Amino acid sequence: MTIRAYVAIGANLGDARATVTRAMQDLDGLPRTRVASRSSLYRSAPVDADGPDFINAVVGLDTAMDAHALLAELQRLELGAGRERPYRHAPRTLDLDLLRHGDAVIDTAMLTLPHPRIAQRAFVLLPLAEIAPELVTPGQLAQVADQRIERL
Ligand code: ADP
Ligand code: MG
Repeated sequence: MTIRAYVAIGANLGDARATVTRAMQDLDGLPRTRVASRSSLYRSAPVDADGPDFINAVVGLDTAMDAHALLAELQRLELGAGRERPYRHAPRTLDLDLLRHGDAVIDTAMLTLPHPRIAQRAFVLLPLAEIAPELVTPGQLAQVADQRIERL
């Protein structure tokens, strides 16, 4: 049985665009998983961080992995991207957040679903609305209208 999951991809160091595109390919290559839909790429100002603009996107996955197994794979991909950094203790180049896993509602120390900060972030809401408009309300979009973001 496959579940529709949504993953937010963000990168703001190095060749961020290439990192996001590569992450989409890597997600498609996960076991028992395929990328069913992908948003455009977006460029957004950092919200909770300093540094260069982020490149963001959201993908929809059809996956037979459960939520915890999928999260573990996302963290493995984050580490993989981090290992390509040219110096020690460099910031992460790739952030992968599990937004939803079907209708699962989970609140543990390791995993909260749906992701608790979806509604505050234009860089999640806009790409998510592109591929899953039923999951985003006009009111949510209005709340983040002041955040700087551009569709590439
Ligand atoms: P953020 O993405 O919120 O800026 P981090 O990527 O550093 O911050 O957060 C990673 C931590 O969040 C991990 O320890 C992970 O276990 C936890 N976490 C809880 N829920 C989720 C989720 N839905 N998706 C991704 N990570 C999550
Ligand atoms: Mg994260």
